[in-house]
Order: sequence, then structure tokens, then C-alpha cells
Amino acid sequence: MFNSLRARLWLTYAIIIFLILSILGLGIFVYIIRNPIIDRQAIQRLDIALSFIQRQLNDSSLSLRQNQEYFNRLSKSLSIRLLLFSPERKLLLDTEPEESSILWPDNDQKPSLQRRINDLDGNTWLYVSWIRPKGDILVLALPRQGGIQLLKSSQLRQILRDDFLPSFFRAGLIAFVLAIIFAAWMGSWITAPLKEIEAASEAVAAGEYRQISLQGPDEVKNLAGSYNEMVQKVHSTQQSQQDFVANVSHELKTPLTSIQGFSQAILDGTVDSKESLQKAAGIIKIEADRMYRLVVDLLDLARFDAGTINLDRKKLDLEDLLTNVVNRLKPQAGNARVHLTLDVETLPTCVGDRDRLAQVFTNLVDNAIKHTPFEGIVGVKAWSESDVVRIQIMDSGEGIPEEQLDRIFERFYKIDKSRKKDGEPGTGLGLAIAQQITNAHGGQITVKSTVGEGSVFEVILPVVKPDDSTVSIRRKEPDLL
Ligand code: ADP
Repeated sequence: MFNSLRARLWLTYAIIIFLILSILGLGIFVYIIRNPIIDRQAIQRLDIALSFIQRQLNDSSLSLRQNQEYFNRLSKSLSIRLLLFSPERKLLLDTEPEESSILWPDNDQKPSLQRRINDLDGNTWLYVSWIRPKGDILVLALPRQGGIQLLKSSQLRQILRDDFLPSFFRAGLIAFVLAIIFAAWMGSWITAPLKEIEAASEAVAAGEYRQISLQGPDEVKNLAGSYNEMVQKVHSTQQSQQDFVANVSHELKTPLTSIQGFSQAILDGTVDSKESLQKAAGIIKIEADRMYRLVVDLLDLARFDAGTINLDRKKLDLEDLLTNVVNRLKPQAGNARVHLTLDVETLPTCVGDRDRLAQVFTNLVDNAIKHTPFEGIVGVKAWSESDVVRIQIMDSGEGIPEEQLDRIFERFYKIDKSRKKDGEPGTGLGLAIAQQITNAHGGQITVKSTVGEGSVFEVILPVVKPDDSTVSIRRKEPDLL
């Protein structure tokens, strides 16, 4: 019954209101019982009666007998008990002798300052007293109604029935109605965004990614914000998964079509001469190699994503590594009629996976050669700076449009296949892998480029500490092809 947030809110308010009213009721009840007003009113009555009697008796010289009649009449008409004590505290007169006797305290005992006195049965009386000129004492008394005695009296029942309970129940009823209204409002304020999240989640399950508005209390707003973020991430993850599958299929389709076509031609006997057979087999080999490279690249990226890539970290002679890369690519640069230079300053030791870093620099220099026109220059430069080593690969090639600079490190991102000089389209995975390898070494890779002037790719690698592992490498003259 109280499963919904709204019902629970209402129940909470109801319980709180019930508790508050109960505590208030108890407080009021205790106040009524302890309330001194009833006693004060009685004392006031006694004071008024006394001053009246004082005025009447001041000059009179009534005898005790006459006094007794007068007092009895007065007692009856005012409903007050009158007592007269001799100067020696002996009871001379009591207008209500049937009540339990009241003894007036003797001379050295002062009567109660609170104007209360107990009779012989222990009942409390409120009184006022007057010591007359002759020394006798007139006492006017009323039974005490307030305090614990009130509990026994019918007066309390009357107060409760007439004053206390109706107001209490009225207040309770109003509070409950307000609680229901407030709980309904509060409930919809809190649950509206939650309901929106619920509806949006169902929509996500149905494939519709929608954002929800940020409203309600802070916690619910934060939840809605996190939800929006999550939906956005799930969406982009799903999108990139779909893109990934589409890209992989596309990249595999081209070589597969080629392999299919040439193998079919061999089977059909269309390829009959030895040369054409050689050519077909060559193309099948190239396409198979391409597919193999693609699969290896994809496996590498998957390992980086899963964090399971194993880097063979060792102390690195970066100059040697860069020289090797440049030397291996010299023939390719020569074929492309591109000048390839190497300029390495004295470098401290870095730690890293030699083969993986060679893969990074090979990819960068290979890209630079491919995107540089005849007689252009590709330069590899390295130097150390505080605790990093900077390696720049510069080219005087076609450059990269500014709006594409951020995207070239994305997987499968290719600017324009038709620009490739050797006609062989890349996969668009090279820079993505280079970035992953550099990051895994605690470094970073950046690019600056101007269309028509060329590009500069920079790899920054941290230097190994402590100093004893840092070795100096002698500067080498620029290597010109
Ligand atoms: P690919 O295997 O296609 O070369 P990369 O990830 O290595 O993939 O490069 C991504 C894209 O960045 C390429 O399509 C290419 O157009 C562009 N690119 C990379 N290096 C350069 C460069 N030095 N000059 C101009 N464009 C470049």
C-alpha cells in the first residue's frame, strides 16, 4: 500500500503531524493540570471577599454570636469557608464544621507563603487571612481545584470536553488535510523528474536516446544530470560501436572483393598465362597482407582498450632508434623523391618498448613521406627539454585542414584517400595506434599543420629518473638523403 514514494511521503507527514500534535496535546494537558490560573482566580475571590468583610467589620462591635450568624450568612452567599481563630490559635468559629478541620499554625510557625493549607485529611485549601485588631485571626478558605486534584475533579473533564479536545481534533484535522495537500505537491515535485527518468529509460531500451530536463530537488537534479551524461555516453558508445563495425566491414570488404575476384579468375581459368597467374597471386598476397595488418592493428587497439597490452619496457637509446627508423624508410623516401633528414641533439635515456616506439615513428615518417610532394622535405628532429624528450616529424607536404586536426587521431579517420601518392589507401588506424602507444609510455602526441605548407607531428616522452639511469648520447650530424 505504501510502496510509492508519494504514499510514503504522505505517511511520513502523517506520522510527523501525529507526533507533533500528541506532544503538543500532552504539553497542553500538563499545562492545564499545572495551570495556576484556577488557584489564582480562587485567591482573587478570597481577597475580594476579605476586603468586603474588612469594610463591614472594621468599626463594628458585634459579639461572637452575632459574628457567627453574620459569617454563616456570608459563607453561604459567597460559598467560602470562614474560620476564626483566637490570638492563641484556637478555633473559635468554622462555617463548615462538617468539613475536615483546619488547624491554624501556632505562633512560631508561619502559615504557607503560597497561601495553601492542608486540613486534617490532607486536602489542600487556598486561604487568605486577616489578623483583627483584637488579635484574633479571620481565615477565608476555598478547596484547591488546580494541580493533581484537577485530575480527580469533574472540572477537568469539562475543560477537556469543552475546550481541549474539540480544538485539538480541529487542529489535527486541518493539519492532516494540509499534510495530504503538501505531500501530494511535494510528491509530484520529487517524482516528476524521476518519472521522466523512468520514461526516458524505457525510451532508451526502445532505442530512443533522449535527454531529460533538470528539475526538482538538488539530489534528483543531480541524478537527472548523471542520467543525461550516462545516456549520452551509452549513445556515443553504441554509435562508435556501429561505426566501428561499419568501418571494419568496409576495410575488409575491399581486399576480400579483390581476393575473391582474382581467385575466381584462377579457378575459372581466365588467368591462363604464367605471368597473369603470377600477377593475380601477387595481388592476392598484397590484399591478404593488408587484411592481416588491419587485423593486427585492430587487435592492438582492442588490447589497449582492455589494458592488456604488454609493453616491453627497457632503457632506450632514442638516437639509435630514430636512426634505424629513418634508415629503413630512406628507400621509400628515395622512391617518392623526398629529402629525409635526421637531427638529434644529446638525449637523456628514456624507458620504453623499442618496437612499439619504432612503430610510432615509422608511422609518422611514413605518413609524412606519403603526404609530401616530389622534392619536398621530411625532417626528424629530437632534443631534450627539462624532463622530457621532444621528437618532431616535419614535412613540407600538403598540410591538414584545421577543422580536421582534432579528428585525425580517431580510429578509421582518413582525410582524403585520393591524396595518397602510392595509391594504396590507408586504414586510418595508424595515428590512433601511435597515440595509444605514446600515451602508454606516459607521453603525448600533438600536431600542428598549415595547409599548403606542411605539418609537424610532435611526440613528447618523459625522461627516466633518477639521474643515474640518464646517459648522454652524443649529438649526431643531420642525416641527409
Ligand atoms: P592512414 O593509415 O590512413 O594513414 P593515419 O591514422 O596514419 O591513417 O592517418 C589519418 C589521416 O591523417 C590520414 O588519412 C591522412 O590523410 C592524415 N595525415 C596523417 N599524416 C599526415 C601528414 N603528415 N600530412 C597530411 N595528412 C596527414
